[in-house]
Amino acid sequence: MTEKTPGKKRLRRCKVCGKSFAPQRSTARYCSDACRKKAFRRRHPTPKVSAEPIAAPFTCRHCGRTTWQIEAHDRQYCSASCRTAAWKARRVAAALTLVELTPETSHDAAEMLIEEQGMRAIAATLKSAGYAYDAAVRQWIKGEVAGREG
Ligand SMILES: [Zn+2]
Ligand SMILES: [Zn+2]
Repeated sequence: MTEKTPGKKRLRRCKVCGKSFAPQRSTARYCSDACRKKAFRRRHPTPKVSAEPIAAPFTCRHCGRTTWQIEAHDRQYCSASCRTAAWKARRVAAALTLVELTPETSHDAAEMLIEEQGMRAIAATLKSAGYAYDAAVRQWIKGEVAGREG
């Protein structure tokens, strides 16, 4: 058998299994129903069950609770209330540290200063003075290797 079989029926190569076959119809592209179905399935893959969301163990930086959460890799706190509490704790600790740094400053004045300058500026000031915030003890600690708190 060659491709040049006389007549209208020329052999074709099945697109799925590669076998030569004599097409029954001019549009036939597959040697058999099985191959036709296979080709159909290739073109219309059954959607895979959507990938399981990634759950990862994650320890809240505020309450220290470890929970399995979905895509928690970029999160720091288990809840909004922990985030707020952590933010407040950092701020309160900053006020205490400001008082410690400048004893003539009252706690209220320190709070005012933070209010005025913003926590970002105060954090920068404390960092330049060699302090780093340690979320575990909720204190700004001098000389601690910085980096525990961005
Ligand atoms: Zn085939
Ligand atoms: Zn928490």
